[in-house]
Amino acid sequence: MISHAADLWPPVYDPSYRPPDDEPYWNRSRETMPAQERDAVVIAKIQALMRYAWDRAPFYRKRWQAAGLEPGDIRTLEDFARVPTIAKADLRADQLEHPPYGSYLCIEPKDIVRIHGTSGTSGRPTAFAWGAQDYAAIREAHAEIMWSMGIRPSDVVIVCSIFSLYVGSWGALAGTERLGAAAFPFGAGVPGQTLQAISWIRQMRPTAFYGTPSYALRLAEAARSEGLDPASLGLRVMFFSGEPGAGILSTKGLIEETFGAACIDSGSMGEVTPWMNIAECSHRTGMHLWQDFVYAELCDPQTWQVVPFGAGGTPVYTQLERTAQPMIRLVSGDYAEWTDEPCPCGRTYPRFPRGIAGRIDDMLVVRGENVYPSAIEEVLRGFSELGAEFEVVLTRERHMDELTVRAETATQAPGDDLASRVGAEMKRKLGVRATIELCAPNSLERTDLKSRRVRDERHSPS
Ligand SMILES: [Zn+2]
Repeated sequence: MISHAADLWPPVYDPSYRPPDDEPYWNRSRETMPAQERDAVVIAKIQALMRYAWDRAPFYRKRWQAAGLEPGDIRTLEDFARVPTIAKADLRADQLEHPPYGSYLCIEPKDIVRIHGTSGTSGRPTAFAWGAQDYAAIREAHAEIMWSMGIRPSDVVIVCSIFSLYVGSWGALAGTERLGAAAFPFGAGVPGQTLQAISWIRQMRPTAFYGTPSYALRLAEAARSEGLDPASLGLRVMFFSGEPGAGILSTKGLIEETFGAACIDSGSMGEVTPWMNIAECSHRTGMHLWQDFVYAELCDPQTWQVVPFGAGGTPVYTQLERTAQPMIRLVSGDYAEWTDEPCPCGRTYPRFPRGIAGRIDDMLVVRGENVYPSAIEEVLRGFSELGAEFEVVLTRERHMDELTVRAETATQAPGDDLASRVGAEMKRKLGVRATIELCAPNSLERTDLKSRRVRDERHSPS
């Protein structure tokens, strides 16, 4: 807990603070603050952060100078929206030039307490450095956010994800410890471990679970293979990151039904720790943006203007409490819509009501409407008469985009009106007209890559 957020940077937290168990908020005044008041706290932190980075990080100073800006010019959040954005590729290039941490390392290398990093699947890996201050801030933020999920000190939290350079597992562990619950860092990824997890869960009776949605479904399979109903395992809260599934309503419903537990979506990106800066509360009305830990702007990916509530864009993140390698206006490349409509929990943070919809690179523009393959999938999953596989084909006929969705049926003889019902739902949810072609079960090519499900033939020579 912190009393004078605007006066003190970086903030210092009292590690012994904890609210009573029946208190719905970890920090009531901070979480329920009127939006305007919070904006004043955020801009004060931004000013302190920018002065800090200007003095220490040539990476930022050069960019801001090139844009004709210095920290003193930033007096409002509108001013801040003029600060140049940075991309993951910029971090990678800077670390290559200034190894190993880049010219945005703002603490002495001897003061680094943890090293994490990207997996490096898309090029040279990027190293993340945390200082002691950063780690304390991650613990505090995650405890506060996990409290909003309904986790309390009496809970036992099993962390079923890999303990490696991946920050997900460590972040869940840090929050669990600070909150005062019992941490059970079980891990994942070792052959045979899922069956072992079942026997340990039966023995230790954890009440909360962290992992990926696909791992939770695998765990359910393992339970059933042992003759157990996954709902009998006793899990009450299951929170996720690393994959979009927990935000997709059909997958969320499946997990909740399977385990009889609340399925909670969380997580922004590895560069942005505390990564739980976007996370659902126990009401599960979409992800709250915990703006006083990490300030998120939702920007139009073409103009980089901040979009109004109700619109969609890509999140751009600024860590307000990070000292080692602060990220200032880092573009996520994800796509979400945002709202400031109130949540029943009483928190005043804006929300991504439907979580992260996908990557902006995956977005299709059909007759001027933004359409995500994940949204098409979501509509199809709502029909039990349809099978698992589908294909999206885009063509252009007489200067008009045509969207065709080929979907496998679950049985050989579906009802006569199935295609028109699916088409009507598609139009209602996505705002575009699609031609629905039903295919026999197992007739479409199987692929693990979602991108292969989309064929855009509009620009190919005919
Ligand atoms: Zn809420």
